[in-house]
Amino acid sequence: MLNNSSPTCVNQSKRKMWNIKCSKYALGSKNTIRSIWQAKLITNPDKFLISLSVGDPTTFGNLKASDETIKAVLKSIESGKYNGYAHTQGHEFARRAIAKYSAHQSSEEIKPENICITSGCSAALEYSILALAERGQNILIPRPGFCLYQTLTEGLGIQVRFYDLLPEKQWECDLQQLESLIDENTAALVINNPSNPCGSVFSKKHLEDILAICEKYYLPVIADEVYEHFVFPGSKHYAVSSLSKNVPVLSCGGLTKRFIVPGWRTGWVIIHDRENRIAEVAKGLRSLCGRILGSNTLIQGALPDILEKTPQSYFDSVIDILSENANLAYGMLKKIRGLNPIMPNGAMYMMIGINIEQFPEFKDDTHFVQELVNQQSVFCLPGSCFEYPNFVRIVLTVPKEMIEEACARIAEFCEVHYKVDNTIIENNLLGEIPY
Ligand SMILES: *Cc1c(COP(=O)(O)O)cnc(C)c1O
Repeated sequence: MLNNSSPTCVNQSKRKMWNIKCSKYALGSKNTIRSIWQAKLITNPDKFLISLSVGDPTTFGNLKASDETIKAVLKSIESGKYNGYAHTQGHEFARRAIAKYSAHQSSEEIKPENICITSGCSAALEYSILALAERGQNILIPRPGFCLYQTLTEGLGIQVRFYDLLPEKQWECDLQQLESLIDENTAALVINNPSNPCGSVFSKKHLEDILAICEKYYLPVIADEVYEHFVFPGSKHYAVSSLSKNVPVLSCGGLTKRFIVPGWRTGWVIIHDRENRIAEVAKGLRSLCGRILGSNTLIQGALPDILEKTPQSYFDSVIDILSENANLAYGMLKKIRGLNPIMPNGAMYMMIGINIEQFPEFKDDTHFVQELVNQQSVFCLPGSCFEYPNFVRIVLTVPKEMIEEACARIAEFCEVHYKVDNTIIENNLLGEIPY
């Protein structure tokens, strides 16, 4: 017989109506970029829309996954071996393939048990944050920065604190300001290198300076390295973990950007912890994988071939396209009065500063972006999506002709709305040198 005498069940008042509330966690999970994309845009009907806002390299069809990548998945499907569940961290052979592919990240051998395969790099970041931070704690994230860090964190009651990146220093961190944010409740430092939205690539020295701060304050690093290897000729990317002597690093990566398959939702987190300083966190990460019974196994079946067989020439050709687009856009935008583009060294984006006071019709970057869509049908993301007003971000993955056309339209738009600083004109009329 059921004995239902548990005290919580007795004499409890019952609901009298449908009064169902949403959890704070769900309501607190906001993704600003997705909301802007999904909003209705009013464009100029005489001009076709050029969207420079979508950070999805497959959008225009000019960048495609390699043949090797596609074949690997076909083989995985046809084998019939990858329809079942895998280990919640992912098939061991797939993790071994990731360890081999990521060998440069560590001077020590990466063990498969220290890898979790996740549903995209986003889930790798989510697990890392969940494993390291607790309600009431804080994590440090870059400004400007990828808005997902906030999306993942705020609903959990974990505070985000922004450390500043400096445009005049190629978007290096303001180390002093970063250090001033740290307190005993700081759970982790998020480093995104190469950066979305800046396209910047940190030097070895700068990463070592950051690691020295982490060492001083016992601060583990979450390294968002989804753009690893994605650097233009002349730049070099260093994995944070490869430079860390003993600061623990959770390195998050995936297939999404480099292999141009964002929809496949395949990412991973690699635990680098040679001194066993975060052994408990590693255990927690493994437990988190059990929550959704692991990630997509079809792609896991294909991972060894994808990671080993995709030729260097494929990656080189993608980088060539992006760096050519970066040069083209930079050259055109640099000439426009009132704009200040910052040349990227990697990833797929460029940030453009707007001297908003020289466009007095517009109250801020969002207004500027809106009018640019209305009048020229060119859609960029306002810097405020990245907590960085008076900038806009463009993506460099669009076909060259579109970049050219978009920059020409931006030039026309700025020419129409640019207002010369009146004080300079007056000084000129008085015959004085304005500087
Ligand atoms: C695209 C992106 C991600 C998300 O990658 P998914 O594998 O699609 O989840 C994470 N971090 C940064 C900086 C990105 O730009």
